[in-house]
Amino acid sequence: MLLASWPTDSAGTMDMNDAPDMFDTLRKFDLGNGRQGRFYSLPQLEKSGVGPVSRLPVSLRLVLESVLRNCDGKKVHESNVKELANWKSTETRTAEIPFIVARIVLQDFTGVPLLVDLAAMRSAVQRLGKNPKIIEPLVPVDLVVDHSVQVDFAGSADALKKNLELEFQRNRERYQFLKWGMQAFDTFKVVPPGIGIVHQVNLEYLAKGVLSCPDARPQTPDPIFYPDTLVGTDSHTTMINGLGIVGWGVGGIEAEAGMLGQPVYFLTPDVVGVHLTGALREGVTATDLALTVTQMLRMAKVVGKFVEFFGPGAAALPVVDRATIANMAPEYGATMGFFPIDEECVNYLRATGRSEEHCRIYENYYRAQGLFGVPKKGDIAYSQELELDLGAVLPSVAGPKRPQDRIELPKLKESFIATFSKPVTENGFGMKPEELGRTSAEVSMNGHVRAKIGHGSVLIAAITSCTNTSNPSVMLAAGLLAKKAVERGLGVNPVVKASLAPGSRVVSDYLNRTGLQPYLDQLGFNLVGYGCTTCIGNSGPLAAPVEDAIHKHNLVAASVLSGNRNFEARVHQSIKANFLMSPPLVVAFALAGRVDIDLAHEPLGIGADGKPVLLKDIWPSLREIRDLMQTALQPEVFRKLYRDFAAQNPKWNEIPSSTGNVYEWDRKSTYIQEPPFFENFSMQPGSIAEIKGARALAIFGDSVTTDHISPAGSIKKTSPAGKYLIANGVQPADFNSYGSRRGNDRVMTRGTFANVRIKNLMVLGVEGGVTKYQGGCDASSQTQTSGEGAVATMSIYDAAMKYQEAGIPLVVIAGQEYGTGSSRDWAAKGTNLLGVKAVVAQSFERIHRSNLVGMGVLPLQFKEGTSAQSLKLDGTETYDIIGLGANLKPQQDLILRITRTNGQTESVSVRCRIDTPVEIDYYRHGGILPYVLRQLVAKA
Ligand code: SF4
Repeated sequence: MLLASWPTDSAGTMDMNDAPDMFDTLRKFDLGNGRQGRFYSLPQLEKSGVGPVSRLPVSLRLVLESVLRNCDGKKVHESNVKELANWKSTETRTAEIPFIVARIVLQDFTGVPLLVDLAAMRSAVQRLGKNPKIIEPLVPVDLVVDHSVQVDFAGSADALKKNLELEFQRNRERYQFLKWGMQAFDTFKVVPPGIGIVHQVNLEYLAKGVLSCPDARPQTPDPIFYPDTLVGTDSHTTMINGLGIVGWGVGGIEAEAGMLGQPVYFLTPDVVGVHLTGALREGVTATDLALTVTQMLRMAKVVGKFVEFFGPGAAALPVVDRATIANMAPEYGATMGFFPIDEECVNYLRATGRSEEHCRIYENYYRAQGLFGVPKKGDIAYSQELELDLGAVLPSVAGPKRPQDRIELPKLKESFIATFSKPVTENGFGMKPEELGRTSAEVSMNGHVRAKIGHGSVLIAAITSCTNTSNPSVMLAAGLLAKKAVERGLGVNPVVKASLAPGSRVVSDYLNRTGLQPYLDQLGFNLVGYGCTTCIGNSGPLAAPVEDAIHKHNLVAASVLSGNRNFEARVHQSIKANFLMSPPLVVAFALAGRVDIDLAHEPLGIGADGKPVLLKDIWPSLREIRDLMQTALQPEVFRKLYRDFAAQNPKWNEIPSSTGNVYEWDRKSTYIQEPPFFENFSMQPGSIAEIKGARALAIFGDSVTTDHISPAGSIKKTSPAGKYLIANGVQPADFNSYGSRRGNDRVMTRGTFANVRIKNLMVLGVEGGVTKYQGGCDASSQTQTSGEGAVATMSIYDAAMKYQEAGIPLVVIAGQEYGTGSSRDWAAKGTNLLGVKAVVAQSFERIHRSNLVGMGVLPLQFKEGTSAQSLKLDGTETYDIIGLGANLKPQQDLILRITRTNGQTESVSVRCRIDTPVEIDYYRHGGILPYVLRQLVAKA
């Protein structure tokens, strides 16, 4: 097996390879520097007759390399190699692939709780009288602090400085804890706040493309090279697929297991090939392409599949455009949106400051593997092939509630007008049509500027998200558009909260060097931070008069952002219509001030010369952008800015750090607490038993997101989490966000299902985390009288605690796509800590399903045609889950028995969505963490 350490040479080095060469595939290749390296040769595997490897999709061959290299007969078996080498483009998928990744990336919202779990495991090991150091990441882990910065200040020259100061004030305890982690674990590194966004930092700096380790066998002294692969605790880890690197988002729980030497298991996927031809036309951006691909692939139902782009159109796209498309894989539902390795990848590595020697090794390695170059039609047998002519892509936006709802730019006006009065059930706003032109409010800003706002007014305009800020072509386009707008005398209404938050300091470098930043500043797009900001919902407050006007007039106001998600309440709790678009369009809509506008025909505003200015008048040409691109990518700038972060970050240096291998938990901390997952931990796993007499904690409709289940944004003072914080001496001004409190299970359990927009169908007409507590009795004997045990409406947390006290298990019932959205392990952890034993849904999002199993919660799926509605469930019933036992099999059918208040029972068949044999083990052990901990302690 491979033990990894932080890369130390140009190619990145791991400690040692001592896996046996079971298929005799170790071969030599020329490193291009007079030396030779070794590699597990896929062409050799094919020559040996194991399977038609060269016909496999490139992404699968990269996974196969990991399976082959790590094949030791224990964690990875010969059969795993043979099965994958003989992958068929279409067949029923039952085999799981044990994938040992080369490294792991984390962001701080998910990384802090993961470090809390590692610290809790060390405490548990210490309590068992063993050496806590047995808990140590076995592959390199990089955490980038990017999710915590909020846009409290915007539109001023000092916004960056002030936001950073507030960030450090709010997050001091978390950052102290991260510093403890850096000294306690050998393979855990942190990129501090103010440097960039995880996926952009990964693309520009962390990714090596190829890694190496010394060979443990004395007779083979040359180092062994292997592909850079990873998983990350953020859905958009797929951005790295744009650089030909296999990687995707997993739950924090899976990442922890991966870190501790467990393979990441996944069902053998279908691979959808997307054949790209042609080239983008003048006026069309990579963002337009990404939105088009998102819509097209959503319709093609690629959920849980690999997507691989190929053909001449793919080969002609630069890596930065590929990365923008790959980043949105979670939005189109694919596990990956992969682009193969080619000359463009080498160019990108070179342009971003990777050494010449490394670039040569990279190219030679992939050539030796037969993996260099974008495949042409007919080279590979994909499960399904789709066609896209890049020349047919049109300027687009997506929204107002889902990223896959693409709208051609000229049609936005009519689309907004139609959505305004469409029923909520059809993704509309359910307003009366006549309200549209009528309700507007005059607000006074800064005490003197008066402005009118109404339905469709743009109130947030954010150049945000690594999706786009990693792409210099769209960032430069935004700067050029701003320059032309300023030169024509246009301005942005002060009610629009504009912001610019790039994913790396390289962006500022080139926006300054090209002289474009001052024009963005003049329009209010001052730099507010290097982090996720609006993309994750950290938009900060709106001006008080604006906020008041929205609520007083019940306005359907809009945000425009270059992000990738626009689910309800994600961008800002008061903004209902959220449109995704390219950075230059964000600037354009900020200038226009509204979304009910046809930018093909209506002017953005009136220029200084009194003439109307149309979008086409100030839209930069491809040539103008291309000319500036040369300035954008300078290798020495990348090398300078990605060197010695600590020295460049005095605020980080000021944070004190505690020392020691075991964390000293501070019971008074409201940020970091020891979670109860290993309380009373014993070496004996439990048993799998039927669930009897469960109550419904909630019944949900379709598309409940992980943000509905475990919100990342602000904490209401009247919510259970808010009350807890106040009781612990935290003022509402210092609440910070749920995302930043994920190191404290007390806050997070109270915050589970606490999204202000979640709709529990047990309490019709009410939004927010409430339920009907059904009392402690069984359904058939339930009374409706007052007093202890009677039916009462209360917060989901309070009801769950009452059920826990009464020893009553809970279930959650849901519709389609349960757990869609960002990977969020607290959505599963909180569900577990509320006492929910099973979630019964019509379908599950991939990561959330696996997180539920990872936390010992049973995911069950209704059969086609069955749902809460078809069964007329209202939450007054009790539920039994029959068929669970020691012999439980993956995807086995079980019985859900429903007992109604009148005593009638009904039994329906449900599919157990524990999908793989190893997941059965996780479930039996009460989750992945107890499973891994028992293994490690047993070995110690
Ligand atoms: S900018 Fe957006 S997509 Fe990128 S890591 Fe942050 S939240 Fe995820």
